[in-house]
Amino acid sequence: DSADYDSEVESVCPFCGVGCQVSLKVKDGAIRYVEGINGPANEGRLCVKGRFGFDYIHHPHRLTKPLIRRADAPPKGLNVDPANPFTHFREASWEEALDAAAGGLARLKAAHGGRSVAGFGSAKCTNEEAYLFQKLIRQGFGHNNVDHCTRLCHASSVAALLENVGSGAVTATFNEIEHADVAIAIGCNPVENHPVAATYFKQFAKRGGKLIVMDPRGVGLRRHACHMLQFRPGADVAMLNAIMHVIVEEGLYDQQYIEAFTENWEAEKAHLANFAPEKMAEVCGIEAEVLRDVARTFATAKAGMIFWGMGVSQHIHGTDNSRCLISLALMCGHVGRPGTGLHPLRGQNNVQGASDAGLIPMFLPDYQTVTDDGVRSAFTEIWQSGDFSSEKGLTVTEIMDDIHAGNTRGMYILGENPAMSDPDVEHARDALAKLEHLVVQDIFLTETANYADVILPASAFAEKTGTVTNTNRQVQMGRPAVAPPGEAREDWWIEVELAKRLGLPWAYTHPREIFAEMKLTMRSLANITWERLEAQNAVTYPSLSPEDPGQAIVFGDGFPRPEGRARFTPAAVIAPDEAPDAEYPMILTTGRQLEHWHTGSMTRRSKVLDAVEPEANCSLHPKTLRRMGLAPGAMVRLTTRRGSVEVMARADRAVAEDMVFLPFAYVEAAANILTNPALDPFGKIPEFKFAAVRVEPA
Ligand code: SF4
Repeated sequence: DSADYDSEVESVCPFCGVGCQVSLKVKDGAIRYVEGINGPANEGRLCVKGRFGFDYIHHPHRLTKPLIRRADAPPKGLNVDPANPFTHFREASWEEALDAAAGGLARLKAAHGGRSVAGFGSAKCTNEEAYLFQKLIRQGFGHNNVDHCTRLCHASSVAALLENVGSGAVTATFNEIEHADVAIAIGCNPVENHPVAATYFKQFAKRGGKLIVMDPRGVGLRRHACHMLQFRPGADVAMLNAIMHVIVEEGLYDQQYIEAFTENWEAEKAHLANFAPEKMAEVCGIEAEVLRDVARTFATAKAGMIFWGMGVSQHIHGTDNSRCLISLALMCGHVGRPGTGLHPLRGQNNVQGASDAGLIPMFLPDYQTVTDDGVRSAFTEIWQSGDFSSEKGLTVTEIMDDIHAGNTRGMYILGENPAMSDPDVEHARDALAKLEHLVVQDIFLTETANYADVILPASAFAEKTGTVTNTNRQVQMGRPAVAPPGEAREDWWIEVELAKRLGLPWAYTHPREIFAEMKLTMRSLANITWERLEAQNAVTYPSLSPEDPGQAIVFGDGFPRPEGRARFTPAAVIAPDEAPDAEYPMILTTGRQLEHWHTGSMTRRSKVLDAVEPEANCSLHPKTLRRMGLAPGAMVRLTTRRGSVEVMARADRAVAEDMVFLPFAYVEAAANILTNPALDPFGKIPEFKFAAVRVEPA
């Protein structure tokens, strides 16, 4: 009852890329209850994280004052107690902390050049904060070594989409599944990772839509699927090429569409000739007749959609996986009409918006390339500053190598946690410890903040104003419901204060001014104004007029590529970087769980979510456990070429007998101690989804 609350504020859930709109009910300065409202993506629905996962913002571990590393602090390491950081840090005023933060970075620039300072921005902050972050590194330090977590989730999908479709965003909202006859969900687990989107998938299947699920794990959606293809890990390209081979062989492709809207079809067709399903069945572990049936089902549907997640993208062949999915949709003409489209399900709440805002080493806002002199001069004119480097910058994982090489000496990290999220994380932790000056801006003393020289206390989603963009290209307005605790401040304010101390002519006094500047550089925001977002909560881009709520489906009349044509790029089969052998005979794959978000810094501080899933765990097939003489709940040791963790084992028939699944939210059994840092050469994304591992009783 609204009489029970002092205020009710409309905002956006801070967890996944679905971007559910919420009403935050506030009493006595604290959020007491959260309700789903009628946003375009969620239509009133929420999952367990959106409904119960808000109380982390009131947790006693919140950073409430700036902190500076003590002169007599122990050596840098993962050794700070977030409840009592004062053996390592002392409290400081904002003035002193900002001077120390900016002063340290400025000294490195003066001594070693701007190239010695790199930045990680955040996909959890607002669009305005992402825009300012990339501007600060480019304008303040003169180069493009600025990146964010997209590198670890969908960089390969974006690389393939830009290459072949001309745009890195989805071609249709996930809600379009309502108009589809058939949908493929591959390498994703929406029941746990995009739960509200999953409700639309389930309704689609209930209405008689044909849902085809493909994943090495038997993910929850299989219960609603007409086909569940539990293929061998890493065999995606072989399987998808075999499906496309059938479409060519049986003449099921859409010749008219291919002629009108695509290029390179003959090369794709010739390439696919080598992938007969009878030959590929052994490679991917799926019978040829099933591959043929799936090919016919998808190609002969009136309207088909393809959804994918990090099971597709986090491989050294992640870009090739996406190239296959794009080719599959194009050859069937399943793009640009109601119920058709390509949809990589984005992970963090604002990873789409942060990417659009230019928080990427190769691209400025709206994916305008840094190598183009005309593009850079358009930006420097608006920014009223000198030119910056035309060289593509280093990515998240490359920056860690660059620290070890002695080139990057200082970093500014906003709301990212590479000490948990990087592959081969001990390598990343050693790199962070080597930095001469590290500024961390966050709401908690994260594992990464353990290595900081200055920690700046920032604000949670419910404490600030700003826009975010979800997986559907919907730009949505976030509003403050409560004040930040203690002296914590909005992230954009902190960025502005740092920039001023670095000598930049920044004078923003409100996020609306930053949004107005973004509009000068981003055509995607045409017809989307701050005032519209305040009034309507959400507008989808592209929006064709001030009245248009935005286009749910794009590319019905051609693509933003030369001659308006999308491209077929053939993909060869590449083996995973690391093959299982006698010493490491099983396959490790990692991911998320319903109750926990990424590195756990927020959800493990949320009472309900932590109560439901309090302990680090991994999943093994019951037969695998029996072979080791273990009962479910026993501890196991997982060892890869990079390290070892001990973790409680659950029995799970959805995991193949030679696999182990390990969530990455738990610092006490950090999955990324084990993962392989080998990179996809195009998207530069690490192979989180495949490592050779040994499993033994602990
Ligand atoms: Fe939040 Fe995603 Fe759940 Fe929606 S589906 S409530 S955005 S975590």
